[in-house]
Amino acid sequence: MKSVAIIGAGITGLTAAFYLKRNGIPVTVYEVRDRVGGVIQSLRKDGYLAEFGPNTLLETSPKIAQLVRDAGLQSRRLDPDPKAEARYVVRYRKPIEMPAKPLGFFTTNLFSLGAKLAVIREPFLAPRRDGAEESIAQFVVRRFNQEFLDHAIDALVAGIYAGDPQKLSVTHAFPKLKALEDNYGSMIKGQLFGARERKKRGEIAKDRAPKFSFDEGLQVLPDGLAEQLGDSISLNTAISKITQTNEGWIVAGNARENFEAEHNAVIYAGTAFKLAQLVIDSPKPVNLTPLSEIRYPPVASVVFGFRREDVAHACDGFGMLIPRVEGFKILGAIFSSSLFPNRAPAGHITLTSYVGGERYPELASLPPEKLYDLVCEDLRVLLGVKAKPTFQHAAFYPRAIPQYNVGYGRYRALMTEAEIKAPGLFLAGHYRDGVSLSDSIVSGCNVADRVKSFMRTGATNLEPISK
Ligand SMILES: Cc1cc2nc3c(=O)[nH]c(=O)nc-3n(C[C@H](O)[C@H](O)[C@H](O)COP(=O)(O)OP(=O)(O)OC[C@H]3O[C@@H](n4cnc5c(N)ncnc54)[C@H](O)[C@@H]3O)c2cc1C
Repeated sequence: MKSVAIIGAGITGLTAAFYLKRNGIPVTVYEVRDRVGGVIQSLRKDGYLAEFGPNTLLETSPKIAQLVRDAGLQSRRLDPDPKAEARYVVRYRKPIEMPAKPLGFFTTNLFSLGAKLAVIREPFLAPRRDGAEESIAQFVVRRFNQEFLDHAIDALVAGIYAGDPQKLSVTHAFPKLKALEDNYGSMIKGQLFGARERKKRGEIAKDRAPKFSFDEGLQVLPDGLAEQLGDSISLNTAISKITQTNEGWIVAGNARENFEAEHNAVIYAGTAFKLAQLVIDSPKPVNLTPLSEIRYPPVASVVFGFRREDVAHACDGFGMLIPRVEGFKILGAIFSSSLFPNRAPAGHITLTSYVGGERYPELASLPPEKLYDLVCEDLRVLLGVKAKPTFQHAAFYPRAIPQYNVGYGRYRALMTEAEIKAPGLFLAGHYRDGVSLSDSIVSGCNVADRVKSFMRTGATNLEPISK
């Protein structure tokens, strides 16, 4: 019976394993840690629910809701409180609500008249067609202006990538923005005229996609998938070498002495820096060591509980994004208990803040007490916090999110080349197909389809990933 090895029990690996197993293909998921879920980490304690990794899952593709239904987790799905739609951006050192409707942009005090005029002017600017790859900063300044970069995009980039807009590639990190310019000549025109085409493709823009979680946090999803996979998951098993043979692949690890297993195909669903270290022994040499250059800056997540009366701000929304120019240490904060019920005991609220990233990498690894003080001080100024937290927990991600910086295409080309040279090896997940949780789920679904077709035909299907 043909079987598939899946390296990594994050959401990508578990999704792929779940769908392969449902199609009658035996799988083994190898995970170096003693738990499933990768960066997803939910903690229930003292009546609080802390989410250290991702907080919400965006339904950008019909495949997301389908996975939840297929995994039998529909009854545990939690949609956010519709009253918690407000998003804040910090300006003049205080959170200002972002306009909910496009016309609100012209009356908000978040932006000056100059930035508003830049938006009106954008549809009349010629598109850039020379194929040069730009950073998101260069792209935004060229199409809008510096203020738009400093007070909007910089904060957004910190919220998604914990990244540096001067380094992130618009082509690789924000491909849909670049496509608006390429296809419509302008981002504003693309937003206005592209809506019908996006609907036809079943594609939902990230800013409009419904978001959700589960009654006990996002960990419910990997745990639910793992339950269905049962003893197909091998925890505490680091895979260090894979060898291509006439029959398929031998995966070898250092968990148990002389550990080896034979499979017909291998999906690598781990991280880029571990993939760079994986020894790949195949007749046609494959070199993925340059992937070690991909930056994954450190991030610390700090979850605080406060008594409701100890926080002046209503915290009535999703959260606040903070641009670098405002001079705060935290990258932003999510108003976790406004979004979903049961995140805090009655009369209390939960706030999740992020520290580090490319902006201040050195702060992420501060000892917990220093980290708590730094976050408390920013929350005091921004949200009017006036007492010590009643709950505090932090998680440190030494290598959190891959930076799709200018030049990332080189790494993607190496990954495609590896799949061509070593048939039966598949690469999937956040380091290749987009950094969000929803991108990772779609990547897991797509790689399962590609492996199914490989098992039938023996050919590696390199079709572009469909969302
Ligand atoms: C702090 C933080 C906040 C985030 N917030 C959001 C958010 O709000 N919304 C959102 O959409 N996304 C968010 N993301 C991004 C999203 O969570 C991730 O992109 C996604 O979960 C990645 O899933 P994955 O399975 O591809 O990788 P991972 O979760 O990294 O899983 C990979 C797994 O592979 C294992 N592994 C690696 N190499 C080997 C090996 N050689 N042998 C065995 N096992 C191996 C690792 O131990 C790990 O468990 C956030 C990420 C972080 C870090």
